[in-house]
Amino acid sequence: MTRRTLRTAAQLVTAGLLPSDRAAEAGRVAGRYTVAVTAAVAALIDPTDAADPIARQYLPSAAELIEAPGDRSDPIGDQRLSPVKGIVHRYPDRVLLKPLLVCPVYCRFCFRRETVGDAEGTLTAAELEAAIAYVAARPELREVILTGGDPLMLPPSRLRALIDRLTAIPHIETIRIHSRVPVADPERVTDALVAALKAETAVWLAVHVNHSRELSPAARAALARLAGAGLPLLSQTVLLKGVNDDAAVLEELFRALVRNRVRPYYLHHPDLAPGTAHFRPSLAEGRAIVKALRGRLSGIAQPTYVLDIPGGAGKVPVGPDYRHEDGTVEDWRGDRHPYPD
Ligand SMILES: *Cc1c(COP(=O)(O)O)cnc(C)c1O
Repeated sequence: MTRRTLRTAAQLVTAGLLPSDRAAEAGRVAGRYTVAVTAAVAALIDPTDAADPIARQYLPSAAELIEAPGDRSDPIGDQRLSPVKGIVHRYPDRVLLKPLLVCPVYCRFCFRRETVGDAEGTLTAAELEAAIAYVAARPELREVILTGGDPLMLPPSRLRALIDRLTAIPHIETIRIHSRVPVADPERVTDALVAALKAETAVWLAVHVNHSRELSPAARAALARLAGAGLPLLSQTVLLKGVNDDAAVLEELFRALVRNRVRPYYLHHPDLAPGTAHFRPSLAEGRAIVKALRGRLSGIAQPTYVLDIPGGAGKVPVGPDYRHEDGTVEDWRGDRHPYPD
């Protein structure tokens, strides 16, 4: 097994991950959206299974070239809400800070697929200063969310320097990092990286993981190093057709996350990113799946099912709803009980 990240259709075919008759389509997709499959992820793919849920998340397919009506290049309005390069400011108390736009892998359903993958998107020192100055000048901000791209792709010394700068801003109470690295490239979670994340200001880490098979022994060891350093760990999962749109698959994932000290935070309904319609279940399907988990799974293993409203209005829970018009509430078995409100 090669240790190199695979980035072209030819490399995916040579590695035995894609049949050669899919090379041409994969090449066309790679010309449009960035492709990268790390050695750790390649090792999880079963090339003999045409419906492999890991392959479906990471290997390019011709369906990505089909744009559905309603698909948008900037599904949740990042650009409109960006006052300074690298900052997205939607809510009163928190902002996103995107120090770079590269990731260890490129998910085929990524909502930022039109912007990620560009090494030129890394903020220059001056741009990063301007982004930090924006945060420092606004005392109403309480939280900075580092995302991108994947912030854990930064060298530990640069990450440390950024966290130190944010820690020095008195009104910033929490720093949150969203990352695919512990799953997609667990060897990057070195002692130096873990040390860079230990700060006086609370640093919360939200790991993006969509299937229990992504929690390989190496990924679990990476999570153990992070949890062992005292970092609170959260997860976010995207509900994806053909990957995890099944209550049993999600049950296994959320149980595995809790076992590994990760609290499931959000289950995202997929965004309207271009060429991703084949990944999107309906909201009704999503609600039925989430409903099936209630009662079957500990409360600490239940994320909130959310939709990021297209255009940038924000994330909202989308059910299921257990209150009914007839003044009853429904229990986890489906029985209804009157509740005078
Ligand atoms: C998702 C998002 C957040 C974080 O939302 P939470 O509900 O706090 O997880 C903040 N700002 C923007 C612009 C976002 O897209």
